[in-house]
Amino acid sequence: MPSDNDPLSLDAFREEAERFLRSIAGEFATAERAGGRRASDRIAAVEELGEGHELQVKQARELQARLFDAGLAWPSGPADCGGRGLTREHDRIVERLLADMGFPSREMLFVGLHIVAPAIDAHGTAELRRRMLTALYRADIIGCQLFSEPGAGSDLAGVSTRAVRDGDDWVLTGQKVWTSMGHLADVGEALVRTDPSAGKHGGLTVFLVDMHAPGVTVRPIRQMTGGSAFNEVFLDGVRVPDSHRVGGVGEGWRVAGTSLGSERETMIGGDGPVSPYVLERVVALVERLGAADDPVHRRRIARTVAAVTAMRAAAALPDGSWGHRTASVSGSVLKMLMTRAVDEIAALAGEVLGERAFTDGGEPDAYAWSEFVLGAPAMHIAGGTDEIQLNIIAQRGLGLPRPPKPG
Ligand SMILES: Cc1cc2nc3c(=O)[nH]c(=O)nc-3n(C[C@H](O)[C@H](O)[C@H](O)COP(=O)(O)OP(=O)(O)OC[C@H]3O[C@@H](n4cnc5c(N)ncnc54)[C@H](O)[C@@H]3O)c2cc1C
Repeated sequence: MPSDNDPLSLDAFREEAERFLRSIAGEFATAERAGGRRASDRIAAVEELGEGHELQVKQARELQARLFDAGLAWPSGPADCGGRGLTREHDRIVERLLADMGFPSREMLFVGLHIVAPAIDAHGTAELRRRMLTALYRADIIGCQLFSEPGAGSDLAGVSTRAVRDGDDWVLTGQKVWTSMGHLADVGEALVRTDPSAGKHGGLTVFLVDMHAPGVTVRPIRQMTGGSAFNEVFLDGVRVPDSHRVGGVGEGWRVAGTSLGSERETMIGGDGPVSPYVLERVVALVERLGAADDPVHRRRIARTVAAVTAMRAAAALPDGSWGHRTASVSGSVLKMLMTRAVDEIAALAGEVLGERAFTDGGEPDAYAWSEFVLGAPAMHIAGGTDEIQLNIIAQRGLGLPRPPKPG
């Protein structure tokens, strides 16, 4: 790990990244969305992909490619896959700078980068890693996660989508649901059942599905935010080459675990929707509306700052500081803290704005909060529900007994 005296100390790296981002900032500053708002003006708890999202996606891909070519897309990644072998703190520096400097959101790429890529990195063959990781990190392709099914969400090991071996291929049949970015994706990480006789967790395998292959049907789901970021995905006899298998046959539960751990820790447990920019925006909103003197709002402001501070303090702990016994629960703790911080910010914005948060009356920084306020409840479910996180913390972190099975 670089020390403060190395050329790649965190400070030196921050300077390098900031210099580069300043040099390209102008190219992304005039980005207009439908409705005349700048992409950086809207605030969302989860990516919503509303009207005008094609331009957002194009900008995100262009920005990601520029970052990749400058060595800033994946600083902690290995050199043969476009990384620089640095630390995750270097990754976080780039993300924070991008947020602080108001660059357009790249959130629609994050399922591929923070859920799919870690599984390929940890379990894929050398060839799969080189090809897929480079393409994902350069945004040449977009990834999605094909885990949840109508009958398997919290109980993920209950997935029933089948994969049957046929020569060098596997043939996949079944239905996935809640697939974020499925309609944009080129590749999907699918958790499927390859051996129904091998027990619930033992008969699972992970494949990378070409989302444009014959037999893949993607149907967007409209959300109450007005956006349409997730989908139903039907797999009807989809052929996947065995070379697109991630990990061994029957090792899918372990591979999926890598994706889920990373999802909680880096995608959901990081600053995520609670960037310094969002906190500044909500405080500025309260001040603009003259609401800071109201005791009810003051109490909410205090709760919001406390929740955000707790989340940041936990997220800033160096890797490994949770201790070996609790290492696997850090993502669950961070996710719970982040969900609480999102709730407080959404409640504060909703309370001071009232109905103006939901009706576009042209008032600056009012309707911009609509997606955040309406999207906040989804954080209690996405990436594993609150109850599931609490079970993980209780059982794996605190060593408490598992609840008795019904009956
Ligand atoms: C914004 C968003 C994006 C998503 N993106 C994706 C994606 O890209 N890919 C993907 O595969 N999935 C995705 N999901 C799906 C998500 O992972 C599931 O919704 C989640 O795991 C819960 O599963 P479920 O909806 O089937 O609810 P269920 O599992 O049916 O749960 C229903 C209720 O029962 C409770 N419950 C269930 N089991 C237990 C238990 N053992 N102990 C205590 N309580 C329990 C739950 O906490 C919940 O309150 C997304 C969800 C959201 C909200």
